[in-house]
Amino acid sequence: RSPDPVIGRRSLELKTAPQLQAMQRAGVVLSEALDATLAAAAPGVTTAELDAVFAGVLAERGATSNFLGYYDFPASICTSVNDEVVHGIPGDRVLQTGDVLKVDGGAIVDGWHADSARTVILGSSAAGTADPADERLSAITREALWVGIAAFASATHVGDIGDAIDEFVTAQPGEELGILEEYVGHGIGSAMHLPPDVFNYRTGHRGPKIRSGLALAIEPMLVRGSIDTKVLADDWTVVTLDGARASQWEHSVCRHDGGVWVLTAPDGGASELARFGVVPVPPGE
Ligand code: MG
Ligand code: MG
Repeated sequence: RSPDPVIGRRSLELKTAPQLQAMQRAGVVLSEALDATLAAAAPGVTTAELDAVFAGVLAERGATSNFLGYYDFPASICTSVNDEVVHGIPGDRVLQTGDVLKVDGGAIVDGWHADSARTVILGSSAAGTADPADERLSAITREALWVGIAAFASATHVGDIGDAIDEFVTAQPGEELGILEEYVGHGIGSAMHLPPDVFNYRTGHRGPKIRSGLALAIEPMLVRGSIDTKVLADDWTVVTLDGARASQWEHSVCRHDGGVWVLTAPDGGASELARFGVVPVPPGE
């Protein structure tokens, strides 16, 4: 979401272990729904069909959508293709070979929210059906997310996350990637969007202190060109001004007395965090 000066002054919601466990249940359903949605994503499929797949998994698992009806948003996921960065509305757009598709979704279980996004490229450079620069964009954005989560595991302040992501992205050799500043991560829990803002770049401010029970949605959004964006006439879809392609990866994560846990990964992030020497611990343990 966009940085919010009013929300930015509100106090942080700190969750109990049972509340984080409810978020974890929402996160696992969400992860399954994204698995099914990305498995269905292929050339010839419409983004509305993907929305139906996602909504079907939520309904089957007794979860509800936090996207559907949010400021009248008409779907359960955002589908953003190529130069569309975030907030794309599913519809009759037919996916093409080589497209860079971002699927961002959320779920509510027992009143507790989860939010996660992934990028998928509909082809592969090895097969000659995708641009290797797009694959690199998605791979670096994905790794930037894990770098941010690894930083959050031991961070003292929320700003440490953006510092780590910025440092990682800036250090990548080759084509320079831009980190979006107009859209940022956020707190999450009893609502999808809570304070604080979670910047994906070095702001020069340390941000709020991290305390046990804090849950955040970390969501780096990277582009292959300028970070300038505009919103289309549908009042939702955010596109890059220069038409460059974008990637977004997002997880909901928490800190608790026992450590860190990735709420939207079935293994709590264990497999990805191992390379950072971080061992996640489920809330309540
Ligand atoms: Mg999201
Ligand atoms: Mg989010």
